[in-house]
Amino acid sequence: MYYGIDNKENLRVAFSDFGAEIDAIKSLPVPVTDDPNGDVREIPVEFFLIGDTIILGKALGHMGSKSLYSCLFCLIPGKALKRAGDWDDKKKYADRTIDGYIRAAQLCEPDGAKRKAQTETKRRQQSERTNSVDEAPLFHIPIPNISPPQLHIALGIGKRFYKSLEECCWKHDELNAGLTSVVNPTKEVAQLNKDI
Ligand SMILES: [Zn+2]
Repeated sequence: MYYGIDNKENLRVAFSDFGAEIDAIKSLPVPVTDDPNGDVREIPVEFFLIGDTIILGKALGHMGSKSLYSCLFCLIPGKALKRAGDWDDKKKYADRTIDGYIRAAQLCEPDGAKRKAQTETKRRQQSERTNSVDEAPLFHIPIPNISPPQLHIALGIGKRFYKSLEECCWKHDELNAGLTSVVNPTKEVAQLNKDI
């Protein structure tokens, strides 16, 4: 368990030794519950990595959402993602692989101090060369086993839909009641509740 600020440097210090340990775990002994002799069976183990995109990016050694190749999972150029309406959804970009991350990291400036001293142009060239990878991944978990927290995302989107629906209802009621439009219905509701 790690308690602390989850910046890139801290995560490197806290977890850099675990990558190899996790790689070494291929199976774990699990007691066979119906075995009177108390025997154990080796069960194959598969690892998953789940976190928000910032944490996943730091764990993978990715340069972040503003980099040239901003997607953690494929090699779509960031500029192709600028406007959702312009997306070519039939065009398939190569999937990233964990080996691809490892290989790309080998093309980077090896040491953190050097990287800090990199000019913007050099950093951009490195980003082009490495598909926006600037450090070795902390864990060698296969990319299909890496996922953002889907419930968390769904809740966020759901909350925004709900808020939007609430505002539409307020605007609809105001119109029918012949009232002038309020600037922020949610704040108005909060104020009304307070006044009550
Ligand atoms: Zn992608």
